[in-house]
Amino acid sequence: MRIGIIGAGIGGLVATAALQADGHEVAIYERRNDAGSIGAGLTLFSNAFAALDAIGLGDTVRAVSSTAIGRLRSGQRQPSGRWLVSLPPSETPTVRSLLRANLHHALVNRLEPDSLRLSCSVCASADGSPVLNVNGREERFDLVVAADGIRSDARTQWGLNREIRYAGYTAWRGISASSGHLADEAGETWGRGARFGIVPLPDERVYWFATRTTPPGGTDANARDTLLRLFDSWHAPISDLIEATAPDAILRHDIYDLADFPTSFVHHRGVLIGDAAHAMTPDLGQGAGQAIEDAATLTLLLRGADQRTLDGRLARFDSLRRPRTRGMWRQSRLTGRVAQITNPAASKLRDLGLRAAPSSLMANAMAGLQRWEPPKHLGRW
Ligand SMILES: Cc1cc2nc3c(=O)[nH]c(=O)nc-3n(C[C@H](O)[C@H](O)[C@H](O)COP(=O)(O)OP(=O)(O)OC[C@H]3O[C@@H](n4cnc5c(N)ncnc54)[C@H](O)[C@@H]3O)c2cc1C
Repeated sequence: MRIGIIGAGIGGLVATAALQADGHEVAIYERRNDAGSIGAGLTLFSNAFAALDAIGLGDTVRAVSSTAIGRLRSGQRQPSGRWLVSLPPSETPTVRSLLRANLHHALVNRLEPDSLRLSCSVCASADGSPVLNVNGREERFDLVVAADGIRSDARTQWGLNREIRYAGYTAWRGISASSGHLADEAGETWGRGARFGIVPLPDERVYWFATRTTPPGGTDANARDTLLRLFDSWHAPISDLIEATAPDAILRHDIYDLADFPTSFVHHRGVLIGDAAHAMTPDLGQGAGQAIEDAATLTLLLRGADQRTLDGRLARFDSLRRPRTRGMWRQSRLTGRVAQITNPAASKLRDLGLRAAPSSLMANAMAGLQRWEPPKHLGRW
């Protein structure tokens, strides 16, 4: 089949590499002039690797990631450093961390030559016919895959819900030059209306993120100074990690998700994947994982598809992917609300609840999120 993909983020790149490996003729269009990624680090859980393995990309991503986080004590701490939930390394062996830029390069290297078209701003057809307007020129396909992110124009064009909503907090991300400060401990620290997360990377550096409940649209004169002030009294090595990061390499983003969940991911011969379909807050660390699951599910469902069976395969994609991602979208938002609580009494209650909960409960909840299986009954339509 001829397939046109809008957007070379993680979702679009995984889908393109996998569909090309299956023999489809795929062109991927990216409006930016490079296919590098915006962002710092990333964690991927075993569901993402189950999906990548199913489409032959697991080892490509393993080669640029590591289980360094699984060698450390992890969980949730208070700003004083006291553990609320402590997960020993044996509970997190399957989490892998990586640099976003390395993931993008590894995926781009799996694409067929010349199939990635940069500096192409693409417009989907409102009626869902598989036609793309590429820089003013019309390109025809059998199927259009919109992987164009949270502000997806295709989602709007196709009438599949356009509103996004502010999650109430801003996130900063950075890569600290050295992991020398870690003392065998990673994970998240939850304060009142603020969080700090520590993720060791494969190359001895440390990916960190920080959040703060604040109105959208803020800016920093110097992000490092802002964060050093904000986390001044928090446990070690938080200040050291911020200090060891170049101020102009710190990213600041207001966090949004979809305001309502789309009633469908499919519009005739157009299909949404990744953040375009189900942008969620990053509180479960599953946005990219779900984009990868989408890409794998779509690829497997398109095996052996033709014009006659395509609509049925797309309907199956919709019925498989929407319930799972809707649950994650809701749960991410809820987790963010609890994690960002600002009220002192409520945050005390939250911390008491976390301390009282057995760590196996947390590990079991994580295990449910991390389960992905390929679609069943692939031969029967
Ligand atoms: C602070 C933060 C931390 C996160 N941490 C994690 C994590 O640890 N683990 C995890 O799994 N997820 C995480 N996520 C979520 C994850 O980053 C996203 O879910 C994922 O990157 C979405 O990928 P995507 O391909 O769907 O969309 P995007 O990455 O947004 O890619 C969309 C692409 O489409 C292009 N595009 C848009 N419109 C057009 C057009 N008209 N024509 C051509 N190109 C177009 C854009 O330029 C862009 O390159 C995090 C998110 C945030 C904000």
